[in-house]
Amino acid sequence: MSHTPLVQLEAAAKAQLEQILAKGPLKPKDRTAIPQQEMPSQDALDRRGNMHQVALGYTPEQARVEAMRCLQCKNAPCIAGCPVNIDIPRFIARIAEGDYRGGIDVIKETSVLPAVCGRVCPQETQCQAVCTVGKVLKDVDLSVSIGRLERFVADWEREQGASELPEILASTGKKVAVIGSGPASITVAADVRRAGHEVTVFEAFHKPGGVLLYGIPEFRLPKQIVQQEIDTLRAMGVEIRTNFVVGRTRKIHDLMQKDGYDAVFIGTGAGLPRFMNMEGENLVGVFSANEYLTRSNLMRAYDLDRADTPIYSSRKVAVLGGGNVAMDAARTALRLGAEEVHLVYRRSRTEMPARVEEVQHAEEEGVMFHFLTNPVQILGDEDARVASMECLRYELGEPDASGRRRPIPIEGSNFKMDVDTVIVAIGNNSNPLIGQTTPGLELNKRGNIVVDESGKTSLEGVYAGGDIVLGAATVILAMGEGRKAAAAMNEYLSR
Ligand SMILES: Cc1cc2nc3c(=O)[nH]c(=O)nc-3n(C[C@H](O)[C@H](O)[C@H](O)COP(=O)(O)OP(=O)(O)OC[C@H]3O[C@@H](n4cnc5c(N)ncnc54)[C@H](O)[C@@H]3O)c2cc1C
Repeated sequence: MSHTPLVQLEAAAKAQLEQILAKGPLKPKDRTAIPQQEMPSQDALDRRGNMHQVALGYTPEQARVEAMRCLQCKNAPCIAGCPVNIDIPRFIARIAEGDYRGGIDVIKETSVLPAVCGRVCPQETQCQAVCTVGKVLKDVDLSVSIGRLERFVADWEREQGASELPEILASTGKKVAVIGSGPASITVAADVRRAGHEVTVFEAFHKPGGVLLYGIPEFRLPKQIVQQEIDTLRAMGVEIRTNFVVGRTRKIHDLMQKDGYDAVFIGTGAGLPRFMNMEGENLVGVFSANEYLTRSNLMRAYDLDRADTPIYSSRKVAVLGGGNVAMDAARTALRLGAEEVHLVYRRSRTEMPARVEEVQHAEEEGVMFHFLTNPVQILGDEDARVASMECLRYELGEPDASGRRRPIPIEGSNFKMDVDTVIVAIGNNSNPLIGQTTPGLELNKRGNIVVDESGKTSLEGVYAGGDIVLGAATVILAMGEGRKAAAAMNEYLSR
């Protein structure tokens, strides 16, 4: 990925925009001939020393030029590629005209978190994967940059100051409890509140936001953006109670039978880290990515001058896994001062579930990738601290149930990696607490809550959505699930 300085990108876009406007109406071939706009970003060497945003966002001229690349296809495959069916050609047409207010208004018809989704959605496997421009140019990477345009208008709106609050219908006198405060719950709280119901969000942590706050690091998603979404909920009259663990502080049956809640939404996510169950995982210096990222993000351990939260000081770090969580942990470790960060993944680059952009950013910043490699055990020193990790090399066999080629260990290929910290990022399960404390709530064998097509659980008036239903998934899917469940809850409460 090249990194052209912002001033240069801005000047080039201004000149391109003038030329395009002087030319008059654009034909499809004029549109596909417009060069894709590069995302301005911090230099790789600078950014590994700070927590600031890596991608800086399009300038207005870049956004307009990029928007003019859209062919405004009649069949709009991109809309079907978006899990919440944003009317993508329509919002992009508004940006092309310089009508940014119009652009954001179109997105907000269907999405409540555009500044978040514009930054973290895997567009390359969703809307942009089916974009006609990418097909015409025979390169999906050259599709219209839909996510960057979404981020641009969402940021534009934020910079204008307070956005208008949605209309809230007259009070119905009904009470709704929303458990958890991640993207699924934020969506439900907003949609249910709009229908005039009283909403209380119960969050286990001391701050609301879910993974958006404690998982995804500041350099990808500034916490101020999440805070603004929470502030909007509060301004709409949603009550948010933190340090409230449903299942411990109060059970779901108590909320409904004693506290007068008419309906409940469970959006408790998948926050229970998986481990490899290998020798040495209990040594000092082994962390789940969840703990490592939570200390850094939620407890601001990286902000050494202002926060008291301790964080392990590492020289050589191994991160196990190949998803977004692994990338975030590896890139955070670099920013916290590690000299070397090794990412250890048992399959090859092709099978990595992480977003391509995140993998590229991690490589540019100096994370070293070890594909087809997996640890066997972690070895400690006399103080029970991590001293090294023994690994095996792998090769790829036939595809397994996930459709990806199965990694097969190569006998006798053992070798040692000199590390003092190991961060395990091999996936998360759902937290079992709600299941264990809510009789009659049906779970599947993975511990996820079973729901019908409307998001309703096996209990009357109780709905669920997001990672607690899907298993660890994505922000946009969690939002989509929340939307669906909120519609069903509003219908249920109107009876
Ligand atoms: C490090 C990391 C990086 C990621 N990167 C991306 C990305 O780039 N793009 C993307 O689309 N997705 C990404 N994801 C996945 C995405 O963040 C999740 O799919 C999404 O946040 C799920 O939303 P949710 O609302 O279901 O739950 P969550 O966001 O997990 O929120 C659940 C909330 O419920 C609270 N809670 C749990 N139990 C209780 C209880 N008993 N009582 C009260 N509160 C409770 C939790 O504290 C938490 O705040 C990432 C995930 C992680 C961990």
